[in-house]
Amino acid sequence: RKSWLARLRSGLSRTGQNISHLFVGVKVDENLFEELETALIMADAGMEATESMLQALRGRVRKERIEDAGQVKAALADILAAHLAPLQQRLDLGRARPLTVMIAGVNGAGKTTSIGKLAHDFQRQGASVLLAAGDTFRAAAREQLVAWGQRNNVAVIAQDGGDPAAVAFDAVNAGRARGMGVVMVDTAGRLPTQLHLMEELKKIRRVIAKADAEAPHEVLLVVDGNTGQNALAQIKAFDEALGLTGLVVTKLDGTAKGGILAAVAAGSQGVRPVPVYWIGVGEGMEDLQPFDAREFAQALLG
Ligand code: GDP
Repeated sequence: RKSWLARLRSGLSRTGQNISHLFVGVKVDENLFEELETALIMADAGMEATESMLQALRGRVRKERIEDAGQVKAALADILAAHLAPLQQRLDLGRARPLTVMIAGVNGAGKTTSIGKLAHDFQRQGASVLLAAGDTFRAAAREQLVAWGQRNNVAVIAQDGGDPAAVAFDAVNAGRARGMGVVMVDTAGRLPTQLHLMEELKKIRRVIAKADAEAPHEVLLVVDGNTGQNALAQIKAFDEALGLTGLVVTKLDGTAKGGILAAVAAGSQGVRPVPVYWIGVGEGMEDLQPFDAREFAQALLG
C-alpha cells in the first residue's frame, strides 16, 4: 500500500498532469504562461489565485533570468506553497478542557469517516473523547456512530429522535462532569430544506454555549474537495451561519480540482480563507492527514 503522500501525489496528478506536462520540452515564453493560466483555472484555483500566482511567477522568471522550464515549475511550486501557507494551521487540543468541537458538513462529504479518524488521533494524543450523535434525523447515522463508538471504546451520547441541540447540550455537560479531553458534536448533513439546516445548526451552536460559555471552541466544516467551486459556496454558507474555525477537505485523492485550496486561500467568491486542519486522501482511517502547504504544492505540480 502506497504512503498517503504517494497517494496524494498520484491522486492530485489528475489535477497536476494537466499542469506538469506543460513544462516538458518547452521554451520559457508567453505561451507557457498562458497555458499555465488555463490549467490553473481548469484545476479550480480561481481567477484571483491564478492571476496573483502567475504575476509572481513572471516577476521571478524575469528577475532570476530563468530559461529552463523545469526551474519555472520549481518556482511555481514555491509560489503555490507560499500562497497556501496561511491555510496551514493545527487544532490546539490543549486549549480548553473539554475542548468542544462541533462538526458540520453536507451528507456524503466524509463527515463520519473524518470523525472516526479524529477520535482516534485525539485518543492517541492522550485525550479522552466523547461523541455526540447530533444527527438525530437519520436513525442510521446515529446507529452507525454508536456502533463505531462501541467498537473503538469511545463513549457516544445519543438519543432516539429528539432534538439535536439537546443531545449536544447533554454531551457538553457530560464531558465536563466526566472530565473528558474532547467533546465532538456530530450534526446532520441534510434536512428538508437548506435554510432549515442552517437554522438548526445555529441553534445547536447557541445551545452548546449555554452548557459552556466558551464553547464550541472549534467549528469544523467537512467539505468534499472534489466538488470544486461548489466547495466555496458551502464554506461561505456554513461560515456565515456558524463562524468556522477550520476545514477538513476530503477526497483530494483522484480529483482534477485540487486547485480549490488555492481559491480558498485567495478568498475567491467572497469566501473567508478558513484554515485547513486536515485533508482526506482516501477512504481508509489513516487517510486523513494534517494539511502541509509545501507537500501539497509539490504533490499538485507532480
Ligand atoms: P458523511 O455522509 O459525510 O458522513 O460521509 P462518509 O464519511 O460516510 O463518506 C462518504 C463516502 O466518501 C464514503 O464512501 C467514504 O469512504 C468516502 N470518503 C470519505 N473521505 C474520503 C477521501 O478522502 N477520499 C475518498 N476517495 N473517499 C472518501
